[in-house]
Amino acid sequence: MRIGVLALQGAFAEHISILRNLEVDTMPVRSPQQLVELDGLVIPGGESTTITKLLKSYNLMDKIGNLAENGLPMLGTCAGMIVLAKEISDSTVQPIGAMAIKVRRNAFGRQRDSFESELSIPVLGEKPFPGVFIRAPVIEQANSDVEVIARLADGTMVAAKQDKLLACAFHPELTDDMRLHKYFLDIVTGER
Ligand code: GLN
Repeated sequence: MRIGVLALQGAFAEHISILRNLEVDTMPVRSPQQLVELDGLVIPGGESTTITKLLKSYNLMDKIGNLAENGLPMLGTCAGMIVLAKEISDSTVQPIGAMAIKVRRNAFGRQRDSFESELSIPVLGEKPFPGVFIRAPVIEQANSDVEVIARLADGTMVAAKQDKLLACAFHPELTDDMRLHKYFLDIVTGER
């Protein structure tokens, strides 16, 4: 199994390190040639305006969109979730449009723009998952074929799965808890 991590901007090194800890063959992706022969792709958090601009200038935007459409498993975290979405509520970013979700950027305002919250994510087991939210987006709307896998206590949708696409508003790569990455690898191998 070989997993690529989009390495244009943001927290890609942390994803690479977790996947390598899980003994997965993992490589940074910066060019279209590096997209071939991948079994999955991680799109990290960072700044979605920058990431989408770089995706275009590196000629990666359409290619990643096509791969998502053709069923390549992808995990998008925070800005990565924004990149995967079909619609962004303020139109500041032109996303890839792979997941049938509408996402609001920087949804928690200034005071709370970074916080931690213990999340109940039943697909990961009973133990709460440490949700690290950094100027995080939220999912405002999700189509019926999207499975919402995590919500904040007030019901706000913060993680979702659609076929082989997985997206979360928080940063699992900044914690010691590797269950979300393992869950993604199970999607890659077809176990989930
Ligand atoms: N606020 C960022 C954006 O809109 C996302 C923040 C993050 O990835 N931690 O792109």
